Amino acid sequence: MAKIGINIATGSLQKEEMIVGIDLGTTNSLVAIIHPETRQPVALREHNSSSLVPSVIYFNEFGNVTIGEEAKQYLITEPHNTIFSAKRLMGKSYNDIKANASFFTFKIIDDNTESLVKVQVGDKFYSPVDMSSFILKELKQRAEHILKTPVTKAVITVPAYFNDAQRQATRDAGKLAGLDVLRIINEPTAASLAYGLGLHKEEITTIAVYDLGGGTFDISILQITNGIFEVLSTNGDTYLGGDDFDRAIVKHWLQQVSMSEEDMFANKELSQTLRLKAEEAKKHLSSNETFEAEVNGDKLQISKVEFEQLIEPFIEKTLQSCRHAIKDSKITVQEIDTIVMVGGSTRVPAVKDAVSKLFGRPVNDSVNPDEVVALGAAVQADILAGNNKEFLLLDITPLSLGIETMGGLMDVLIPRNSKIPTKVARQYTTQKDGQSGMRISVYQGERDLVQDNRKLAEFNLSGIPGMPAGLPKIEVSFLINADGILVVKAKELRSGVEQSIEVKPQYGLSDAEVENMLLDSITHAKDDIAKRALVEARTEGEQLLETTEKFLTKNASLLTQEEIITTAEAMQALQLALTMEDKDLVHKKVEELNDISRPYAERVMDEAVSSAMKGRTIEQAG
Ligand code: ADP
Ligand code: MG
Repeated sequence: MAKIGINIATGSLQKEEMIVGIDLGTTNSLVAIIHPETRQPVALREHNSSSLVPSVIYFNEFGNVTIGEEAKQYLITEPHNTIFSAKRLMGKSYNDIKANASFFTFKIIDDNTESLVKVQVGDKFYSPVDMSSFILKELKQRAEHILKTPVTKAVITVPAYFNDAQRQATRDAGKLAGLDVLRIINEPTAASLAYGLGLHKEEITTIAVYDLGGGTFDISILQITNGIFEVLSTNGDTYLGGDDFDRAIVKHWLQQVSMSEEDMFANKELSQTLRLKAEEAKKHLSSNETFEAEVNGDKLQISKVEFEQLIEPFIEKTLQSCRHAIKDSKITVQEIDTIVMVGGSTRVPAVKDAVSKLFGRPVNDSVNPDEVVALGAAVQADILAGNNKEFLLLDITPLSLGIETMGGLMDVLIPRNSKIPTKVARQYTTQKDGQSGMRISVYQGERDLVQDNRKLAEFNLSGIPGMPAGLPKIEVSFLINADGILVVKAKELRSGVEQSIEVKPQYGLSDAEVENMLLDSITHAKDDIAKRALVEARTEGEQLLETTEKFLTKNASLLTQEEIITTAEAMQALQLALTMEDKDLVHKKVEELNDISRPYAERVMDEAVSSAMKGRTIEQAG
C-alpha cells in the first residue's frame, strides 16, 4: 500500500466538514470539536445546559425513544422501559453478564446463552448496538443543531480493555446512527491527547490514567513513544463508581430517618427522589463542608467528613487495582511521568488525594474530568482531518478487510484506517458434522453484506479431519506487511492443516473508487444493518431448528406425546417466521420454542446425569 494521504481516508467532504470526537460513556456521553478559530478542543453544549447527555434511553408506550436527562426520570418509575448502561452489554453474550444480571432492571433475554445479548422492551427486541446507536443519533442531532451543519464523521472512544467484538459493535452503532466512524480510540489515549501528551515526535513518556465514572473504574498505564500509544497494563472494576457513592449516602439517610430499604424500594417515587438528592449531595460536598435537604418533611443531612468515611472502602478498592496495574506494567511508580484524572467521580477531593498519595505526586486535573475523553477524541479527529501537519502522512488501510461468514455477512478483521503493518487473527468453526473443507472468501469494503463489497480472493481450506460441527478450530489470520501486501492464512488448529494466499488490496482501485465505496456504505447504513440483523436472527433460528431436530431424534422416547406435539407446532411457527422479513418475529418464535423445550431438555439432562452416576456408560462426546 502506498502512503495514503489522510484526505482519502476521510472522504471528499473533509474541507467543509467537521469531524467530531465522541465519548460514548456508560453513564454520560458527549461530543467535542476543535474550535475552528481558537484551535482548542471544546465540548458542545446548548447555551447554559451541560455538555453531558446521560446515556439513558426511555421507550414510551408507542416505542418512541427519548434520550438523556429526560429519560433519566423514568429509571425508577418505569424500569422495564428505561435502558441504562447499554455500554456494559456491548459485544457480550448472556453468559458473560449472567453474574451481574440482577444489576439490570430491564428485560434481558436469557436463553440462547452463547449468542449476543438482546433486550426486550414491549414486544420489540434491541441489541446493545441498536441502543448505542440511539444515543449516538441523539448526539449527532444535538451537534448538528449546535453547529448548524451536518455531522457525519466521528472518532469514538472505548475503554482500553474492549476486545475486537466490542470495538466492532461500537463501529456498527456509529454506522447505524449515520456516522462514518473514522477511528475507534482508547479512552485513556484520548485523555492523554487532551492534555497534549503524545502529540510531539520524539516524545517518550509514561502516563497513568485513573478513570472513575458513574458505574465503572479503570486504571491504564500507557507508554507513548514517538506518537505511538502502547497500553502497558489495565485494571479496574466494571461495577464500581459514583453510583456506589450515591447508594451509600441513601443508606446513611435511611438510618437517619429510621426507614428500612424495603420500605423505601416499595415507594418508587421516594426511591427516585432520594437517589437524585444523594447525587446532588455528593456533588455539593466536592466543594462544601455539609449538605442539608428536606424530603417529605424529613430533614436529611450529611457532612463531608461522614461522606468520606462512607466511600473510603470504594476508594481503597480502586487503589488496589492501581497497585495491580503498576505491577503488571513492569515499571515502577517512580517511572510514571504523569497521572491523569478522568471521570466525574474524580471531582471528589478525597479520591484525588488518595490517588496522589499512592503515586507520590500531584495529579493532573486541570482539564474538566467528565469532558476530557471527548476533548481528546476531538484532538484525534483533528489529526485525521489533516489539520495537524506532523501527523499528515500515515500508512493506513483505506477500506476494511474481512471474510464472508454465515448468510453472506461481511466479518471485518482489519477495520479501515488501521495503521499498517498489522496482524489480526480470529477463530471460526464448521457448521456441519464431518465437514472437511471451508471456503475462505476475502472481501474489502464497508458494507454489511459481502455481495456489496469488493472480492479480493478466495481459497479452500481442505483436509479438515472429520469432526462434529463446532469442534474444529479454524484460525483465519490477516497480515498486512509494510508494503501493503495482505497475506490471508487459514489453519485448523487441532490437525494443523493450513492454506494461505497473498493479495494486493489496492490493486486496480483508484482514489475515487475508494471514496465512492465509503459514501455508499453511509448511504446504505440503515438498510445494511437491518439486513444484517435479519440474517443473524435467521441464522439463530435455523441453528435452533437443527439442534431441536437432533434432540428429538435422539430423545423422543423420553418425551410425552403433548411435548412432542407442542414442539412440532413451535418448530413449524419458527420455520414460517424464517420465510418472512421480520427479525422481531423470528426472535419471538425462537423464544417460544425455547420456552417449550427448556423444561424437558433439563429433565432429559438430569436423567442422563443420574444414569451416568449409576455406572452406566454414556455416549462419549467428540
Ligand atoms: P461515565 O464515564 O461512566 O459515563 P462520567 O465520567 O460522566 O461517567 O461520571 C459520572 C459520575 O460522576 C456520576 O456518578 C456523577 O454523579 C459523578 N460526578 C459528576 N460530578 C461530580 C462532582 N462534582 N462530585 C462528585 N461526583 C461527581
Ligand atoms: Mg467515561
